[in-house]
Amino acid sequence: MSDVTPFLKVEDLSAGYGDVTVLWQIDFDVRPGEIVCIVGSNGAGKTTLLRTISGMVKARRGSITLGGKDITNAGPDKVLRAGVAHVPEGRRLFKGLSVRDNLLLGAYLREDRADVARDLDHMLELFPRLGERLNQDATTMSGGEQQMCAIARGLMSRPELLMIDELSLGLAPHLVERLGDALKAINKEGLAILLVEQDVMTAFDLADRGFVIETGRVASGGDTEVLVNDPAIRKAYLGV
Ligand code: ATP
Repeated sequence: MSDVTPFLKVEDLSAGYGDVTVLWQIDFDVRPGEIVCIVGSNGAGKTTLLRTISGMVKARRGSITLGGKDITNAGPDKVLRAGVAHVPEGRRLFKGLSVRDNLLLGAYLREDRADVARDLDHMLELFPRLGERLNQDATTMSGGEQQMCAIARGLMSRPELLMIDELSLGLAPHLVERLGDALKAINKEGLAILLVEQDVMTAFDLADRGFVIETGRVASGGDTEVLVNDPAIRKAYLGV
């Protein structure tokens, strides 16, 4: 697998806030059609990494390329146009707007309305619960429904890479399983997925490969089947 050309490639990436550097010379990649997870403890820098890829935090050194195209510090709109959708931690749905309008906002850069309407139908097939709640204020839904809505909103931009920050946070295990099944189905359609997850077992179950970030540096990485049996990772993150 190591000779597969990466789709997302992050090289020597450093980033931070003000005088503080949070990420130090990060190297990792996502190959076409892959699910990759980034795991690590609180404050390790996982959210900052996604925010740097999607252009909300400035890279201080290094590069980010997508399909060979340099998107380093391109800004959020250009990164979205290049094909990267970011589902933020805490879902961040728009209050006062219906589920339908939240989903349509995900497609705000797209002009072909017929195509957008088809994708909306596809989202409702993927997440039938959203279809039952199309006219409800999205922020009044349960946590699981809001996460479905946030993922579907991300997909409405028709990305080639979907990044999800904390898929499972605050959700019951059966909901996480249902969301995981939906992600696997979308992944089978060819979408690459980058997951940031504090629940390491959930992440390893879903992803093909994983990278462990410790205090802003990549500490290890590889196939999740291998990582899950690594004694140091088991002790630090799986409590066994
Ligand atoms: P968590 O799982 O707790 O969200 P994380 O691995 O996603 O953690 P980040 O949220 O990326 O970690 O935070 C990494 C470090 O950057 C932390 O020390 C945090 O306090 C700091 N940090 C995050 N956002 C900002 C900000 N806007 N301004 C200053 N420092 C920040």
